[in-house]
Amino acid sequence: MPILVMKFGGTSVANLERIENAAKKVQKEVERGYDVIVIVSAMSGETNKLVGYVEGTSKLYDAREYDAVVASGENVTAGLMALRLQEMGVPARSWQGWQVPINTTSAHGSARFMSIPCENIDAKFAEGFKVAVVAGFQGISAEGRITTLGRGGSDTTAVAFAAAFDAERCDIYTDVDGVYTTDPRVSDKARKLEKIAFEEMLELASLGAKVLQTRSVELAMRFKVRLRVLSSFEETDETSGTLVCDEEEIMESKVVSGVAFSRDEAKITLFTIEDRPGVASAIFGPLADAGVNVDMIVQNISEKNYDDAHPGAVTDMTFSCPTNQVERAKKAMEDAKAKGLIAYDELIVDTDVAKVSVVGIGMRSHTGVAAKMFNTLARDNINIKVISTSEIKISVLIDRKYMELAVQALHDAFELDKA
Ligand code: ASP
Ligand code: MG
Repeated sequence: MPILVMKFGGTSVANLERIENAAKKVQKEVERGYDVIVIVSAMSGETNKLVGYVEGTSKLYDAREYDAVVASGENVTAGLMALRLQEMGVPARSWQGWQVPINTTSAHGSARFMSIPCENIDAKFAEGFKVAVVAGFQGISAEGRITTLGRGGSDTTAVAFAAAFDAERCDIYTDVDGVYTTDPRVSDKARKLEKIAFEEMLELASLGAKVLQTRSVELAMRFKVRLRVLSSFEETDETSGTLVCDEEEIMESKVVSGVAFSRDEAKITLFTIEDRPGVASAIFGPLADAGVNVDMIVQNISEKNYDDAHPGAVTDMTFSCPTNQVERAKKAMEDAKAKGLIAYDELIVDTDVAKVSVVGIGMRSHTGVAAKMFNTLARDNINIKVISTSEIKISVLIDRKYMELAVQALHDAFELDKA
């Protein structure tokens, strides 16, 4: 039998009625001839509640017990989904991570997959079971302890099962009906994409379009798992939602596929640093050691080039990082300064910024995207503070108050409302 993986997120299993609704979608696929692996999240709000219990009990909690508690939300929905399917006459049973077993590293709270052996579930399919309902987000370490994969991890569980079982597709049922050219809450011209390439989705996922956990897209790209994002609240068929797939499956793509944005960005500038070999390393080494995820970096051109004749040249360095890492970044810089590893006159933090990015695999073969983007922003008098680019993305940091305007203007300029 061909295998299909269907994943239901927290809002899709938020109560018994929604679990029944999801079960009906599973039943339909069984009737179409699939053996189905269903991956479930905890009921929405449940994981937050469990995290709260742990934090309310212990400040410096034992991460193994955190995982034991937090993984339990998925166990409930897996059992309930199996029961509902049985009530509907569909042979189904639940699987907790350790029963499969889903073998992971022992990095509690952010474990990674080691292996997912198929034998146990395959044996049940051979016995006549049609559905394996697997608790997402969890696994078991070599030490035999329960692990979790990090928030949003059920998406990654789903993709890992699709890869392990060589599934025809991995359908991610959620509360939106697909991936859009931008957030419809920001631009009412946002359009649902029929298909999007893995690489584009990866950029969009990491840029703040929170449809899929970034790791799940990485995994899907590596194992070429065709991923579909679709709504669990609508009637759906083979063509619903957005297919995330290899770019070869996308016949004609636009130069730019989407506009992403993130408010969760801060800018830090070190003024008057020395301009000589080793300075960047002395700045970004301590930031890395402090666990700061630096994203964009700009170093000003110094007035005088560094060379033997100008040993005293100075410049400024600006970088961006997630807002909640600003304090850590500041401390890393101040410590490095106190130790004499780096020197600067002033450190300035700007948290009133947002990052806006245009993404598209077509940029690889088309010129003029940056020019068009900057021209569009200039027309609206939006000042660009920092720029960074990759092969398929251009990002700018701007004042946060212009974020919506910038997204709308870029969406128009690249005609993303038109198919
Ligand atoms: N329930 C977990 C969370 O809320 C995992 C998931 O839903 O993907 O993060
Ligand atoms: Mg999720």
